Amino acid sequence: MTSIPIKNCLKNKSNTPVPKAKVSRFFFLPLALNFILLGSLNVSANPVLPDLSTAFHGGNPLPPYHFSPSNLLGIGSITIYDAEVTPLIPIGPYKGITVFRDGQPTSEAIAANHYLHRNLITPEVLQAQENVTKTQIFYLNAFGRASYDDRRSEVHVAVNVNKSMPFDIGLKENAMWMENLKLFLFGDGGGELKNFVGSLEVVAHEFTHAVVSSTSRLEYIGQSGALNEHFADVFGVMARYYFNPKIESPFLVGNHSVTEKGLQKAKSLRDMENPHQGLVWQPESVSEIPEKYGKDCKPSGTNDQCGVHILSGIPNKAVTIMISQLGWKKTGNLLYPVMTQRLSSKAQFVDYRKETLVECALQLSPKECEIVAAAFDKVGI
Ligand SMILES: [Zn+2]
Repeated sequence: MTSIPIKNCLKNKSNTPVPKAKVSRFFFLPLALNFILLGSLNVSANPVLPDLSTAFHGGNPLPPYHFSPSNLLGIGSITIYDAEVTPLIPIGPYKGITVFRDGQPTSEAIAANHYLHRNLITPEVLQAQENVTKTQIFYLNAFGRASYDDRRSEVHVAVNVNKSMPFDIGLKENAMWMENLKLFLFGDGGGELKNFVGSLEVVAHEFTHAVVSSTSRLEYIGQSGALNEHFADVFGVMARYYFNPKIESPFLVGNHSVTEKGLQKAKSLRDMENPHQGLVWQPESVSEIPEKYGKDCKPSGTNDQCGVHILSGIPNKAVTIMISQLGWKKTGNLLYPVMTQRLSSKAQFVDYRKETLVECALQLSPKECEIVAAAFDKVGI
């Protein structure tokens, strides 16, 4: 394995080459266990169907587990791997040991508990189960989407990535959708960022990258890449709002994922309403785009492929204006078909404005579309 193209979502870093794995003794036992017990129990839960008539504005909190869309809703299994135990590739890069499937401990987890007296159902595993499930339900209830690809595909999630490795290979303070592996990957945290699977908007952010990669496939470069990041932020906070409409700061991304050290710089990873104020500065209008990310920028691994995590602040700001004036439901219904059907892979900000206004004319009143146009005007798109 050489390098894996990744969506490096939480920090302004480039694609990270993945070093070859080395087997150490420390990992030998669980690694062997995973080989031996690769099969997992196929336990089906007693289905308790959630109310699918729930309006966009009012989801209920879910029980923390024993709840899986795969056996309840038929929208795709969820399989969770704990990479703390086996970070070294027993069945595929970074997956780790399979500990949870369809809301139940796997045979590997049960065996580890029995023979090694080690509880593999960690808090991170349960948080991943809960927040991936919520994301699935949000997409299903709000937009009728069954799993990220609308084909009920199984969702694979690795948690605690990079935790047991002796050095950070760029995955500790990161979360990403690895399209080529069809794997969501969440690092175990580091200096400024932590608790990724515990933050619904972060999990839904990554999930939305997978939605984009099976629809508009927005190229991860410059403005099209910034739109990819933007949609991930928008539908990330929208999923959180869906389950918590009383939230105080609905436009902060990763506000529970910043460590004490990170909080000395900013209260959240990103602030969609005030893009200057996130952990990493973002422009809030086209006029503020730094020259190095402008039209002469050459995409590379060292410039965040021309600032995809930076430029996303501009459309983010526009959408917070739309939401504040049109509400979450109208804005969500407006932007979902733009993200999934209207934009091409090379779409730029100007295409986003154009297609959103075309869609707006189909869905909303002329007066409401003036609000949408004014929101784009405000940020110079
Ligand atoms: Zn991202």
